[in-house]
Amino acid sequence: MALHVDLQTLYYLVIGLLCLVAGMTFRERAAFPRRARAIEAWAGGSAILAISCITIACREFLPVRLGSATSSVMSAGAYLLIAHGVALLDGRSFRRAMIAGLVAFAAGWAVWGPGNELLLWRYYGSLGVALANVALVWLLVTSEALRGQRSRSLCIAIAAIHAGFYLARVFVVPFVELAYGPQTLEITAVATLFEGCLYAVAMPMTLLSLLREEIHGQLLTATRTDFLTGLGNRLYFFEECRRLLKTEARPVALLAFDLDHFKSINDRHGHAAGDEVLKLFASVAREALGPEVTLARLGGEEFAALLFGERARAARASAQTICDRFQVASLLDGSPARATVSIGIALCEKRTRDADCLLGEADRALYRAKSLGRNRVEDNAKPAVATAA
Ligand code: GH3
Ligand code: MG
Ligand code: MG
Repeated sequence: MALHVDLQTLYYLVIGLLCLVAGMTFRERAAFPRRARAIEAWAGGSAILAISCITIACREFLPVRLGSATSSVMSAGAYLLIAHGVALLDGRSFRRAMIAGLVAFAAGWAVWGPGNELLLWRYYGSLGVALANVALVWLLVTSEALRGQRSRSLCIAIAAIHAGFYLARVFVVPFVELAYGPQTLEITAVATLFEGCLYAVAMPMTLLSLLREEIHGQLLTATRTDFLTGLGNRLYFFEECRRLLKTEARPVALLAFDLDHFKSINDRHGHAAGDEVLKLFASVAREALGPEVTLARLGGEEFAALLFGERARAARASAQTICDRFQVASLLDGSPARATVSIGIALCEKRTRDADCLLGEADRALYRAKSLGRNRVEDNAKPAVATAA
């Protein structure tokens, strides 16, 4: 049984869909307050597309057949507004390009429209929508804010397909019609509306999923970050240990840090001064170890680091550097309190996957450093056995 859907019904379907999508997209502002302006632009784009479709559906009734020009310019403007929303994600300004594009397109209609309305309406007027979608593809491809997000390639594909569809209306359809006659006109119109329906839903859904991915990434980072020092937290450290130890075959060293007599620093100088000392230690350790090393605050005044390869073999020297620099830094003018750190090292030359075991060994070495007077480095190396000469 063949299902026949007439053009008018398809128009009503697209208009309904666009209105629904505009309203639902607009509602999402509450969920993404930082991205409210971009969402407003996208919702505005869908709403303008809906109005443009209404204009097309009623264009026979508009004076001097102005309907084609108005709806064509409006469609291009709607897509430019969607592109403007994407530019806003990066803090880029697309407003001037948007206005210039729109003015140029409207001028094109004003100059060539009279007398060529049918040609522009059927073929060349599609150039505005095509170019606006090419701009959208460019903004998505060059966006820094969207880098690494899974939905970005889908978004690019949707905009590129839409641009390709409208470019085909400009450069391919006229020749198809020449070859196969005017009966292809209705096929093009139905295909345009059908593709429009899919775009009307797919594009806003994908744009919103980009925002959801962004928030998800921010939340994930926040759950793995120590708020006070900006280093990773305990969760981050053990996740990184599990991930790295799974594949690493090089020697590994785990460093356990514990600030000395920290309770008395708090008691003497206050909790805020204690916080400053924690931040100072984090910056000294990060600078000494370098940005690539896994370094975290495990809790309170306890920190840990994971080193591989040559860095692991040189762990003792790095630890001693941290010990010395921290003591000096906490003595300098402006620092809140005199502070030192004790460090325990577990060095494993062979491949290991057991982070808990490494931390246990580093803790035992740390305990030795504390009992030997603090402000020092101890490791898990076995003491050399003295042999009789
Ligand atoms: P030791 O040399 O044996 O390690 O002694 P300690 O005083 O450093 O160790 P203790 O475990 O007795 O004290 C740790 C202190 O760290 C107690 C707690 O109030 C303080 N502390 C934990 N978290 C924070 C924090 O976020 N900020 C500040 N200022 N203090 C903290
Ligand atoms: Mg402690
Ligand atoms: Mg301590």
